[in-house]
Amino acid sequence: MKINETIAAVSTPYGRGGIAVIRISGERAAEIADKVFIPKSGKALSSHADRSAIYGDILCDGRVTDDGIAVIYRAPRSYTGEDTVEISCHGGILLTEKVLSSVFEAGAVPASAGEFTRRAFVNGRIELSRAEAVIGLIDAESESQIKLFASHSSGVLGRRIDSYCAALRSLLSSVYVCIDYPDEDLEELGRDELAARLSSLLAELEATRDTYREGKAVSLGVDTVILGKPNAGKSSLLNRLLGEERAIVTDIAGTTRDTIEEKLTLGRIMLRLCDTAGIRQTEDEIERIGVLRALERAHGAELIFAVFDGSCELDREDRELALLSLRLLSEGKNVVFIINKADMPQKFGFSELFSLAFGSESAPPEYADRIKSVSVSARSGDGIHALKSAVESLFVSGNIDYSNVAVIASARQHAAVSAAADAVKRAQSALSLGFGTDVCGLDMEQALSLLGEIDGRTVSEQITDEIFHRFCVGK
Ligand code: GDP
Repeated sequence: MKINETIAAVSTPYGRGGIAVIRISGERAAEIADKVFIPKSGKALSSHADRSAIYGDILCDGRVTDDGIAVIYRAPRSYTGEDTVEISCHGGILLTEKVLSSVFEAGAVPASAGEFTRRAFVNGRIELSRAEAVIGLIDAESESQIKLFASHSSGVLGRRIDSYCAALRSLLSSVYVCIDYPDEDLEELGRDELAARLSSLLAELEATRDTYREGKAVSLGVDTVILGKPNAGKSSLLNRLLGEERAIVTDIAGTTRDTIEEKLTLGRIMLRLCDTAGIRQTEDEIERIGVLRALERAHGAELIFAVFDGSCELDREDRELALLSLRLLSEGKNVVFIINKADMPQKFGFSELFSLAFGSESAPPEYADRIKSVSVSARSGDGIHALKSAVESLFVSGNIDYSNVAVIASARQHAAVSAAADAVKRAQSALSLGFGTDVCGLDMEQALSLLGEIDGRTVSEQITDEIFHRFCVGK
């Protein structure tokens, strides 16, 4: 990125609208805007006070083409930390393009995706975790996502990570000062004290790391697959769930026998739901492909809805689904056993299902917190509320207030905190094995550097590139 160039882009969505905003950022922003925007007062835009809104004419090809408002922000008090001008013109597609072209003719170059926010990061205006939160806010599809990303954007996660870094720096300085200046009468941090501080830091890091289960369910959504034999009521259940929630429907592929993916918000979390072809042996080639895809999806999913038809006796296909569920649980997935058609006389209950899957009437303790069972009627809607609560309880813990509690929301942040926790654990075991505190120091330094990746202090340029390319042009 050439930071010395002045960039410009339309910051509002492409299309017709009341107004469009053209943003110009860089050293020459005011000088360039002076060539395009003529205040009605006759006094040049660049000589107006910082952050004032000025009404004037907008020139395209040297002719007055529109009128609008310009706001001038002077470095460093702007979004990017550079001189910035925002010109609001009327929001026609062609008109906006003409105004932008005039800005380019006056000396600006086109901004690439996310370049304004990248400049804000480079100029120290925001940390990387805040920049990611901005993308999250732009892309938000649920209330909870807005709450979560608004909290990141206001620095809740950044402050929590800063407090871990401060704790590590303080431990490191105590360790190194005594090694470097052994003759000074410095108060040495005892090994027991160091061990105690490391273990409390580790507990906090692990607690933050574990918030990703909820953060991921809220921000990215839980990959969910609905499995069950044909006619168990999978599509009816999906429609019932979608019918009660605002949903964004994406048809992934062609036939009804194939997989269909839908997103739905369920309380705080989002499910990315996949209705699949019924799992069964089949001669039909198209259906066979659908079944294979269903199994593939199940192995890649995080949550499985195993749907059984309560109005029919359990059969071989149900048994296979029960056993598949056990296998999926052993792979670490979450499973909800759903007995559907509760409005009809029931031929079996959960004890029979559990016996099929586990050989006993209850789930083994190691799976107990990842399996739920709910009886529903997709037709009448009975039990749907209980199903939603059961699913929510698999992923969210109580009523966390995102404006106070730091919840991790991206795989990148999760990887960094997990690796930092591992490094602190290594420091702890080095200490307990009797190594010198300098050896622990190396692990603590590593933890510090890993935490630095979250706000971008120690992150590679390649990763920042990837993050900013997820933005739209103009942000
Ligand atoms: P799928 O093949 O698993 O997707 O099953 P469908 O959703 O197509 O449902 C198969 C049949 O069962 C349809 O005739 C549905 O109307 C019926 N059905 C689905 N859910 C219920 C239910 O809760 N109660 C009753 N009585 N019928 C249901």
